[in-house]
Formats: sequence, structure tokens, C-alpha cells
Amino acid sequence: MSPKASSTTSVSDLAKLVAKGDRAALARAITLVESKKPEHREKAQELLRALLPKTGKAVRLGITGVPGVGKSTTINALGGHLTAKGHRVAVLAVDPSSVRTGGSILGDKTRMPQLATDNRAFIRPSPSAGTLGGVAARTRETMLLCEAAGYDVVIVETVGAGQSEVAVAEMTDGFLVLMLPGAGDELQGIKKGVLELANVIGVNKADGDNKTRAKAAATSLTAALHITAGHEAPPVMTYSALTGDGIASLWEAITAHRKKLEKSGALADKRRAQQIKWMWALLEERFKGRLRSDPKIKAKLPSLEKAVADGKLPADLAAQEIADILGL
Ligand code: GDP
Repeated sequence: MSPKASSTTSVSDLAKLVAKGDRAALARAITLVESKKPEHREKAQELLRALLPKTGKAVRLGITGVPGVGKSTTINALGGHLTAKGHRVAVLAVDPSSVRTGGSILGDKTRMPQLATDNRAFIRPSPSAGTLGGVAARTRETMLLCEAAGYDVVIVETVGAGQSEVAVAEMTDGFLVLMLPGAGDELQGIKKGVLELANVIGVNKADGDNKTRAKAAATSLTAALHITAGHEAPPVMTYSALTGDGIASLWEAITAHRKKLEKSGALADKRRAQQIKWMWALLEERFKGRLRSDPKIKAKLPSLEKAVADGKLPADLAAQEIADILGL
């Protein structure tokens, strides 16, 4: 009898089940990866090490855009388009608002009703606790688990807040920035830095009365981007997530970007650089954790922080006192 994923399943059995594409095992594996308990972290690392050879083959796509632009509707439509073509699609999220408030969890299944009942799709909400760095690290590990489980497209969603976009761009091959049709104010609400991360721009809601406005927005956006980015300017695609019109072309633009990267060797370079950056990010996370848990530092912090806040101690000196405790 083949083993079932339970709390007593060994790490190697869990790895085997994940590799077979067992959804319950994948969910358990993700829960393990998200756990903060030291004994779970150890098991999670063992699991990731066992599954690492089965990772790396998926198309990794980041998606962002302001609330209301149609991220969930787009992922629902794009995901459906892809599963109909035979792909297996995982949807993950990095949500800084859930980090701060514990609410608004992106990737929530109710936001993507068709995809949520599609057995070729797997949706996992953003881990809801920790720092942005911590949440991004867990999402990256979750992405690897999904790849090992046979998902060949991984979509990582985030909401326009600057920092989280950078985190998502650093774990994906391509970045899709969604915008609304609004002639004359195309750049409104989107930070310039976010547009710089874009490999493809999607102008959503190109349906009904909005169709002409969406085309006009795309034309002026294309012109604006050519001035700033020249030949590197990302393509601007109009589509409707609601009707599905233009979804296939949107996907083609995403895969065209990726194929270009792959052909030139830039994809491999990008991923290598991402892995190294990730290692440093993990080290920084650990370092911060160590800083916060060190009893000597804990004891000193309140008085040091107060002295710095009151302007009685220069921040630099306070930082030095803390560094001295760590022997730095
Ligand atoms: P999110 O906050 O970015 O995830 O946006 P949602 O996907 O929840 O969409 C916000 C609103 O826009 C919802 O009422 C959707 O029904 C609507 N919407 C999304 N895509 C389209 C579209 O292509 N056309 C139209 N007309 N409405 C859309």
C-alpha cells in the first residue's frame, strides 16, 4: 500500500508523495515549510534538499497591479487557458498587507472560483505571518515544492507596494504588470520602479465601452516606454480577463519573453543570480532573527532605543554597542 501523508509520514515518504503530485502531500509539505518551529525548519530543509533535483523546469511568472485592476480575474482566466492546454498551474502570493494586518490574503481561492475547482491547478494563499523577507522566502520554497509536484507554470501574485514587487521579480522569470485603460493617466497608481520590473504589460478590461480607451492607453503607453526604455521596452497587450479576449496573446507575449531569455542564456544567468541573492536574503533573515533573540541585546535594546529616539545617543554609536555584543 502506498503511504498517505500524515503527521507521522517520514520526510523521505513525504518527498516521494510530493514528487508523485499528491495534492494532500503538497499541502502538508507547504505547511511544514511555512512553520517557524526549529524542528520543522530542519525537516523542511531536508525535504527541499530531497526535491531540489525535480525543480527548476516551470515557467515562473510574477503578476502585480493595483487592487481592482483584475489580478484575480486575470489569473482565473489565464490559469484556465493554461490548464485547458494541458499545463498544471500553481498560484502563490506575496502579500505585504497580510504581513502587517493579518488580512487581505492574496491567492485566496474564492477570488479565483473556476481555477479553485480545476484539478490541474493548485492555489495557495500568502503565508500570513512574518517579515516581507520571511514571507518571500517561504513563497520561494513553496514554488520549489510545486515544481517538484509537477506544476509547470507557477504564478506568483503580489499587490503594488514596491518592495513586494521586487521580491517577486527576484523569484520569477518574467514579470507581468497589469494596468487599467485610462487615456492620459496610464502611469497613474503604478510606481515608476514597478514599470521598470515589467517584462510584459497588460491593459485589462478591454471590453465593451472600454475597448477603444484600452487600445488608446496601450498605444500611448508603448510610445512612452519606447522613449524611456528603447528596444528593451516591454510589449503592451490589451485584453479582457472577463471575456477571455486577448488572454491567449497575453500568454504568447509572456512565453516569447521567456524563450528569448532562454535562447540567449540569460534565463540561466538570471536564475543563478537569483539563487545567490536568495542565499544572502536567507542569511540576513537569520541574522535579524539572531539579533532579536539574543538575550544580552534584548536586555539593552529598550534603553538604547530610548536614548536614540530622545536624541541623546547617535544611532551609529547605538548600532556599534549592539554590534559589540555580537563581537562584530
Ligand atoms: P484584483 O483586486 O486586482 O484582484 O481585481 P479583481 O480581479 O478582483 O477585479 C476587480 C473588479 O474588476 C471585479 O469587479 C472584476 O469583475 C472586474 N474585472 C476584472 N477583469 C475585468 C475585465 O476584463 N473586464 C471588466 N469589465 N471587468 C473586469
